[in-house]
Amino acid sequence: METALRPLVPAPSALLTALPALLAATLALLATPNIARADLQVVATLPDLAAIAREIGGEHVTVTALAPPSQDPHYVDPRPNLILPLNRADLLVVNGLELEVGWLPPLQVAARNGRIQTGGEGYFDASAVVRRLGVPQSKVDRAMGDIHPGGNPHFLLDPRAARQIAAALANRMVKLDPSNSAAYRANASAFDEALATFARAQQARFAALSAEQRRVVAYHASLVYLFDWLGLIEAETVEPRPGIAPTPAHVARVLSLMKQQGIRVVVQEAYYPQKTSQTLTRLVGGRVVVLPGGTPDGKRYLQHLQGIADALHAALTQ
Ligand SMILES: [Zn+2]
Repeated sequence: METALRPLVPAPSALLTALPALLAATLALLATPNIARADLQVVATLPDLAAIAREIGGEHVTVTALAPPSQDPHYVDPRPNLILPLNRADLLVVNGLELEVGWLPPLQVAARNGRIQTGGEGYFDASAVVRRLGVPQSKVDRAMGDIHPGGNPHFLLDPRAARQIAAALANRMVKLDPSNSAAYRANASAFDEALATFARAQQARFAALSAEQRRVVAYHASLVYLFDWLGLIEAETVEPRPGIAPTPAHVARVLSLMKQQGIRVVVQEAYYPQKTSQTLTRLVGGRVVVLPGGTPDGKRYLQHLQGIADALHAALTQ
């Protein structure tokens, strides 16, 4: 289960209100005809989506990510400088399942670009094409924490989900820019093969671990797809409910469970606080695996996943 009870749409800041004038001035500057321009201007909300879009688009696209890997994707700051790329975008790639609901809608409005509005031909929702985990079986209410009613939105660390996204994204790029369709299809096919080979190889590598070694604790409910892919078992989360900070009583329960089941590894993204995870692993002689919050600048998507798989494997076999 996963969550989203954040303060939703923030009040428009003074900067956002001043934006139309700022935008007009900037657009006038950019209107110079001889600036080299890629065939498709792509904006992705998250770095992993940007990395996947680059694999498909190659030299024919310019891809901008709205959130850096250091930011929690639930709470990205909707800074006005994110509006210009959105204004010029042919394609907006979003995670969906309400992950960006607290910050993306006001940016879409401010961008004044009909192509990338929800449901538009330049709006691509990755969650619409992936297999979903953590779809609540009962009615969602706020006491359950930050639960996303459509399912857990954190699928970007699963290369099997990436294959589904890449295939659908290639179709969309072909539709928006048919002149480069051969390149998009060839890139997608090579990427798909690399993802499939990698996904299977890592599954075999982790399957060789004992059942006890494969039990872990996560900080937030954001790693269920990663664990599902690698055959890891999430015994507990450090957060008592998604988006709710750890309480002493819950931490005590997690600690006794870790001792009971011989769990020595806590896994979390770098943008979550690390103190509780450090305390827990210190008390059981284990370690925290801190994952980058998304594909780092200059790295490719598969390198990012390889780094994560290697770090997890090293911790589980320490
Ligand atoms: Zn979440």
